[in-house]
Amino acid sequence: MSIAENIARIEERILNACNKAGRKRDEVTLMGVSKFVPVEQIKEAYHAGIRCFGESRVKEAADKFDVLKNEMPCVRLNLIGSLQRNKAKQAALLVDCIQSVDRDELIEELVKYSPLRKEPLEILLELRTGEETKSGYESLEGLFHAAELVMKSDNLKLAGLMTMAPFTTDSDVIRSSFRQLVNAQKELEKRFPPKENWACLSMGMSNDFEIAIQEGSNMLRIGTVIFKEQG
Ligand SMILES: *Cc1c(COP(=O)(O)O)cnc(C)c1O
Repeated sequence: MSIAENIARIEERILNACNKAGRKRDEVTLMGVSKFVPVEQIKEAYHAGIRCFGESRVKEAADKFDVLKNEMPCVRLNLIGSLQRNKAKQAALLVDCIQSVDRDELIEELVKYSPLRKEPLEILLELRTGEETKSGYESLEGLFHAAELVMKSDNLKLAGLMTMAPFTTDSDVIRSSFRQLVNAQKELEKRFPPKENWACLSMGMSNDFEIAIQEGSNMLRIGTVIFKEQG
């Protein structure tokens, strides 16, 4: 299976899941998670139509995308892995959106460095919705406080929320994790309008993206089933 064929299969599954959920395909963005994936394969995914990529580590992202960004115009690069404070500056200058904003100290660093950018840096706040996941804000109060910090800065732009469901085959557990994110979105929309600040719901990976679509995700972060050889 080539990467283009993998993507075609995933597209079919996304379309089916959207149809079942009564949603339109164009409501949902497919991000290619390209951590550990070499540049040549990222280009293949780009030529097969992927325009949104996610990387976990700043250094790896810089090594690959400093060059790729010139060759692949209109690519949007997202950081989805936990970010250390000492990498915040490099991240703020490199990516379009940081989806893994999980603590206030990190926001304070991003406030410092985002003025060096041409446009505001997009921010998704990460919510911890599963017992065994380590990263993310732990409570709604935590998210409220983080939102206030982000909104103080003209150079940061709140765009929504991100979560990782627990790695399990129990679809009820996964579903409950996604519902927590949807509920948090509703509360944040009320407290911190306008709604656009919270429009992005980044949830769903290779093993759970169909459930995520049912639960309202509009950004799928998919690595394995795009880039790994399929039988
Ligand atoms: C690796 C990763 C993904 C992609 O996971 P797959 O199971 O390979 O699709 C999505 N989100 C985050 C935060 C990741 O670290």
